[in-house]
Amino acid sequence: MALESMTGMLGEAKEGGYAVGAFNILDYNSMLAVVKAAEEVKAPVIVQTSTKTVVFWGTDAIISWAREIAGRCPVPVALHLDHCKDLGLIKQCIDAGWTSVMIDASASPFEENLSLTKQIVAMAAGKQVSVEAELGRIVGVEEEISVAKDEAHLADPQQSERFCREASPDCFAPAIGRAHGIYKGEPKIAFDRIDVIAKRTHLPLALHGGTGLSDDVFKKGISLGCAKVNISTQIKYAFIDGFVSYHAAHDKEYNPLKVIGAQFSRIKNEVAQNMTLFGSAGRAA
Ligand SMILES: [Zn+2]
Repeated sequence: MALESMTGMLGEAKEGGYAVGAFNILDYNSMLAVVKAAEEVKAPVIVQTSTKTVVFWGTDAIISWAREIAGRCPVPVALHLDHCKDLGLIKQCIDAGWTSVMIDASASPFEENLSLTKQIVAMAAGKQVSVEAELGRIVGVEEEISVAKDEAHLADPQQSERFCREASPDCFAPAIGRAHGIYKGEPKIAFDRIDVIAKRTHLPLALHGGTGLSDDVFKKGISLGCAKVNISTQIKYAFIDGFVSYHAAHDKEYNPLKVIGAQFSRIKNEVAQNMTLFGSAGRAA
């Protein structure tokens, strides 16, 4: 199938009470593993690229992998740009063929965030490109943006409502207490806030910092309106551990394709497990 935007798949997910997994890929092999997992469990999928990954490979390479892989895959695939504050790079990705982008102006004051988000929504309009926007700060390390714990603040429901009404993004990422990276303690997720923000914005919400949350936390967040779950750190671990552990177990072998194959399988299996947990498995049947 051709690449599609997130709008349709997230609308169906919100309606159906499940979430679509959004996985940060690093290269062709990891992109193929994510999409093959989706194909195996019959799930819609969002393939995400960080801004660093886009800068590393360039848009031409990534869009050609995505079109080739999605083109021979029977389940819906969206290509999404994760956390980006660079308007030039967002435009470059839209022009290259990304079907979804995230404008992250959450570090800016409210009015500036609103204005930048409106600009991106206008840029995407008429191009079948969906837009995700963020309000409040997510703890941890994300793309070139570090948020110290005491600086982090949760998204305000009233501001969230106004932000979404005026900017009309397709997906909304309010800060609700989760962190990026690996959790050091038990994360405090503000479920009551997810509930009220989902009701007041009427938008599918994105749950960022999915790695390391318990199954119960995922299920509760999804039941309250999180229709997109981001998994990045777990893919980084599977990417490196899949490679290293194969070589450690076969240290005389030096057969690169077997090492790459082990990495592929590790990522594919973990992604498929996530899709089953999020309830998206079987939804693209
Ligand atoms: Zn994030």
